[in-house]
Amino acid sequence: MNDDNKTEAHDKLGKISEGRLWAPWRMKYIQAAADGEEEECFLCTNPAVDDSPANLILHRDEHCFIIMNLYPYNNGHLMVAPYRHEQNFLHLTDGELMETLKLTQMCMQALDMTMHPHGYNVGWNLGRIAGAGVEEHLHQHIVPRWNGDTNFMPVTAETKVISESLHEGWTRLKEAFDSLRTA
Ligand SMILES: [Zn+2]
Repeated sequence: MNDDNKTEAHDKLGKISEGRLWAPWRMKYIQAAADGEEEECFLCTNPAVDDSPANLILHRDEHCFIIMNLYPYNNGHLMVAPYRHEQNFLHLTDGELMETLKLTQMCMQALDMTMHPHGYNVGWNLGRIAGAGVEEHLHQHIVPRWNGDTNFMPVTAETKVISESLHEGWTRLKEAFDSLRTA
């Protein structure tokens, strides 16, 4: 990652505020989006295969599922999404809305058990201008926060993420989710 690449991506998208919400490992994702790649919706294709560190899914419920973010803002960055490929928040069903909140609680329980965060950012990025990476398929973010995170994106987070691979993180969190299901 160098500043030239970063600037180029900013120019291509033109919608990322300099110095805010910037996670360098998200470069690959942003570059792919700028290049028009990733046309397949992973929130549709990942649920179609068995759960493993490859599809990143941690829990499936009736209307929605929980999946790790492949390009996390922080360790333990999870997402809750409906199975339906729905873009409009106003079109979410009562079942999907209710289950999203229930699964948000479940995410916090599992993260509390495994990673002991001090706080959370929970929210939706609706529309590209609001930072949505995949705006065609609604999803809610659950981002754990620790004391010492200086702002939304701590400077040291790249090291933190590299120190625990998504594969390790998935295995650890899956155990927590499995224990919550049987509790
Ligand atoms: Zn989709």
